Amino acid sequence: MTARVLVVDDILANVKLLEARLQAEYFEVLTANSGQAALDICARERVDVVLLDVMMPGMDGFEVCRRLKSAPATSHVPVIMVTALDQPSDKVQGLEAGADDFLTKPVDDIALITRVKNLARLKALHDEMTMRASTTQQLGLGPQALAKALRGESGRIMLVDDHPRSAARILEALTKSHDAFVERDIQNALMKVTQYSFDLLIVSLSLQGADGLRLCSQVRSLDRTRHLPIIILVEPGDDARLLRGLDMGVNDYLLRPIDRNEMLARCKTQIRRKRHGDFLRTRIEESVEHAVTDALTGLHNRRYMEGHLRTLVEEAAASGRPLSVMVADIDFFKKVNDTCGHDGGDNVLREFAARLKRNTRGIDLACRMGGEEFVVIMPETEMERAQQVAERLRAMIAAEPFKINGATLASVTASVGVATLEGPEETPESIFKRADNALYAAKREGRNRVVAQAA
Ligand code: GH3
Ligand code: MG
Ligand code: MG
Repeated sequence: MTARVLVVDDILANVKLLEARLQAEYFEVLTANSGQAALDICARERVDVVLLDVMMPGMDGFEVCRRLKSAPATSHVPVIMVTALDQPSDKVQGLEAGADDFLTKPVDDIALITRVKNLARLKALHDEMTMRASTTQQLGLGPQALAKALRGESGRIMLVDDHPRSAARILEALTKSHDAFVERDIQNALMKVTQYSFDLLIVSLSLQGADGLRLCSQVRSLDRTRHLPIIILVEPGDDARLLRGLDMGVNDYLLRPIDRNEMLARCKTQIRRKRHGDFLRTRIEESVEHAVTDALTGLHNRRYMEGHLRTLVEEAAASGRPLSVMVADIDFFKKVNDTCGHDGGDNVLREFAARLKRNTRGIDLACRMGGEEFVVIMPETEMERAQQVAERLRAMIAAEPFKINGATLASVTASVGVATLEGPEETPESIFKRADNALYAAKREGRNRVVAQAA
């Protein structure tokens, strides 16, 4: 992924060095040599990540960070503080100013690229979310859903570490703001992360007799855990395994001895990223759901029915198994609307759909074609059985009066046409046409009846 990175440092040589390294990874780089210049750029244009030197004359990095984080227009722009190695207190101050992560000078290449990539991705997810939220605001899915997705930065974390003292120390730091669990064995860990819902997995690469990277690769390849963020704990100098980890999709790493503030910052980023990603994925599922569902009745819509009928006809034709289709249409529905109003008519449609659903099996597909016309596709169903189902539905509609706002409607009836798959040349259109012809025959013959028609 590419992103726009703003490098802020008062020393030109530092700026040039970071700029060159980032450009080598195809990031777009903007530069500023003072805190004020950085704020001006952020106010003027889109910036995805800010790399911010702490020690600058005039306004220092902490102040710049505080200002960025407190202005609504820039509060979501990730900030990485570049601190001096011998100043651990800088990290505490940085976190308090709202920094998202840290790099220490001299800046290590892997660290630089990993930090920037992670935060750029978080920013991209955030941007996409806010954009979608604003376009779906009219549907009532906007700000509340977004706020809910962003609420709380504490998460469920699984730590895989078999060194008792190290595990205890990490756990102690994590449990202040998260639900954290330790597992010593990678098999057990895999079982748990696939079975229960976790927001983050932290894996030590210093396990006795087990390879933490194996667990990481399994977690990445399983559907259930593909999106689970992973942070690895690496011994200094073990660049080979660190790079292999990052290559296989590990999201971030911490070098031992572990700095607790760095750890908390990185956990926070990964958990937020998971939340954003989950949010976007559910929204995609919701919009797919939306595209195939009839909003009034919750049944499948015509578009879905047509696609599905094609698949089912092909399957039935190939396997030689039966398939039937029934088309039901409410009789004199116009009169229902005339007497009860359009809303009353809608309620009849909902109740009709509910009865239709009650009368169908799990493998049957019930759809509303539009208006007061419904279709049920019945796999593995012979003509005789389909006729019975249709007759049962007809009787269920006619026998039980419909109630609208407490008042009982005189009578609602429906006419039903049934057709069954005849041979390998059959198409969705031909079987559907026969069912439709049967329906019109039922209407002609006096309504409130079932007619089955062969080819
Ligand atoms: P028939 O027995 O021949 O089927 O007569 P009918 O009145 O049921 O059929 P027709 O197709 O002439 O009229 C259907 C009516 O259904 C007309 C339309 O206003 C109404 N309608 C279509 N969609 C909806 C809907 O979503 N809600 C409501 N309340 N009415 C609808
Ligand atoms: Mg009708
Ligand atoms: Mg009609």
